[in-house]
Amino acid sequence: MINKVKGTYDVLPSESYKWHFIERKFQEVMSLYHFKEIRTPNMEHFEVFHRDSEMSDMVQKETYDFLDRSNRKLTLRPEVTAGIVRAYIENKLYVAEPLTKVYYFGPNYRYERPQTGRYREFYQCGVEAIGIKSAVLDAEIIKVAYDFINHLNLKQVSVNINTLGDLESRNNYRAALIAYLTPFYDDLSSDSKRRLKENPLRILDSKDKGDLEIIKNAPLIINHLSTDSKKYFDEVLKHLDNANVKYQVNEKLVRGLDYYSHTVFEIEANIKGFGAQNVLGGGGRYDALVKELGGPAHEGIGFAFGVERLLYALEMEELLPKDDNDLDVFVIHFDKKTLEKAFTVAQTLRKYNITSSLNYEIKSFKSQLKESLRKNASYLIFIGEEELKNNLVTLKDTKTEQQVIITLEEAINLIKKGLLK
Ligand code: AMP
Repeated sequence: MINKVKGTYDVLPSESYKWHFIERKFQEVMSLYHFKEIRTPNMEHFEVFHRDSEMSDMVQKETYDFLDRSNRKLTLRPEVTAGIVRAYIENKLYVAEPLTKVYYFGPNYRYERPQTGRYREFYQCGVEAIGIKSAVLDAEIIKVAYDFINHLNLKQVSVNINTLGDLESRNNYRAALIAYLTPFYDDLSSDSKRRLKENPLRILDSKDKGDLEIIKNAPLIINHLSTDSKKYFDEVLKHLDNANVKYQVNEKLVRGLDYYSHTVFEIEANIKGFGAQNVLGGGGRYDALVKELGGPAHEGIGFAFGVERLLYALEMEELLPKDDNDLDVFVIHFDKKTLEKAFTVAQTLRKYNITSSLNYEIKSFKSQLKESLRKNASYLIFIGEEELKNNLVTLKDTKTEQQVIITLEEAINLIKKGLLK
């Protein structure tokens, strides 16, 4: 037996309706905000993700990089934003409209240590709005994420917001942080030692106990913001207040990737027993990514939610609906001739939008009944020798146990009207 690859999972037929549910809920919110779906490839050229400025662990240690048979260096996408920005530039989406608003739903790949809520292949749903910079837009993007969470009915969540300011602010802050952390160098974790050189802001993200103790008194970005950056952030918060978004400013929030600037945010679950991987999603503004990938100096903002984590939260809060694709009719037959008829009856039912199924072999009555029970069919249609001869069907309501012998047309009418129920 060959098993699935470590860190991946199967969505079995009995579970897939949950995925449809979440995708549908996401699309409903997207359509209200007039975001259009974009589908970009799961593999991109290596350089899309491995840029000089991107030193994050994810890109350095966790990407699936490989050579194809023509020796092209490719990467399975670890996130979707960079691929969308590549598509934005390649297709010159900015020519048609000053602001491109897109959403996506799809898999990503990261070579991480698998654990609850952390996989090597996982799904994200998210948005990108590329082309302009506006505090109103930042507030709108956070509001979309907030609305989605509310649309799912998830209540035990919190929205954390911070700003990383513009390049000047980040450089000032970086210097202050390095000055503060350097005397503690020997006590930092090995990851943080490395980050001190490459991207000291990421140290604020550390979960290491020793690091946390040191970070406690670290300088805060808020005190190193340029006047413009501070003003921009205040404006974002004002628009969020106007939009009735409940949030907290978390001055230590930085995000995993290096391309963020100004507004960053995360939405986390506060559900008891949820586990350590409680960040449902997050995002932020990026000001240099489009240019870095060879495009115009356009800015963007976006977010991504982890679909598995959303599903887990919905499960814990018992907010997932039942599988609503129960079967309307199971058609039961008795021999070769009635199976042939049952096959055409099922076709006719589907023409009338009635879901139907049957057993495709000649099986005992009892086993067909069992199958109809498993499939939770609302009605049974029996095609026996008599029915075949008289061009009739026996229709039975599985709840009331009432049954009638009628023409197929009459049966369709009754099913449509929900009679016999
Ligand atoms: P990121 O792109 O790292 O900011 O991640 C955005 C969201 O995707 C996170 O908040 C998680 O919900 C989800 N996510 C990230 N990495 C993983 C993973 N390895 N497995 C499952 N979900 C993930």
